Amino acid sequence: MQSLTQLLQESARAHQHLCPRQVLGVRMGLAAGQRLDLPVPQSDKRLLTIVETDGCVIDGLTVATGCRVGRRTMRVLDYGKVAATFVDTQTGRAVRIVPHAGARQQARDYAPEAQSRWQAYLLGYQRMPEAELLNFQTVTLAVSLEKILSKDGYRVNCQRCGEEIINEREVFQAGLRLCRPCAEGAYYQPLALEVSAGLLTEKGSSELLWSCATF
Ligand SMILES: [Zn+2]
Ligand SMILES: [Zn+2]
Repeated sequence: MQSLTQLLQESARAHQHLCPRQVLGVRMGLAAGQRLDLPVPQSDKRLLTIVETDGCVIDGLTVATGCRVGRRTMRVLDYGKVAATFVDTQTGRAVRIVPHAGARQQARDYAPEAQSRWQAYLLGYQRMPEAELLNFQTVTLAVSLEKILSKDGYRVNCQRCGEEIINEREVFQAGLRLCRPCAEGAYYQPLALEVSAGLLTEKGSSELLWSCATF
């Protein structure tokens, strides 16, 4: 097993500097390996990490667990929480780990030499005993693992927009097989095109898009 220092170095390389939330991510990942009795960082796909925010914590989690979005061993559900659930996909055992509400305050006691709050978190989170830093919840998944992981090679097309949907992420509505944007609304909207002064332009594009000022 790699030491905390080694993992933090690796995380800092990917992140281009070290910050407190990477430390939390590494400590959460290491604690998960211990609780689930799985060797981390993994080289296989047995451990699945479901993380509840994007950002710094993910870089720490990635180096500590070996789980990666690109390998489909990490999923990001953006609840805006520094929290993650770790699932042993062979046994179904799962543990959700969240930093203690008082961890920020306590970090200062473990880093008396720190010159700033930020530095106190950075050092304190490395030194705090696990029980003071992290909170553990044994959980079960509300969605089946089979549904989350789905099958390789599965693909269908949306009956409204025609785009391909993989991993069984389609939904059925009024007898139609639809992608979620078509069924539930998307995070994007196509820009309406309009003809102005004989040229085709995108309505509202100046506010919505970065302009290509160098043209
Ligand atoms: Zn950061
Ligand atoms: Zn669609």
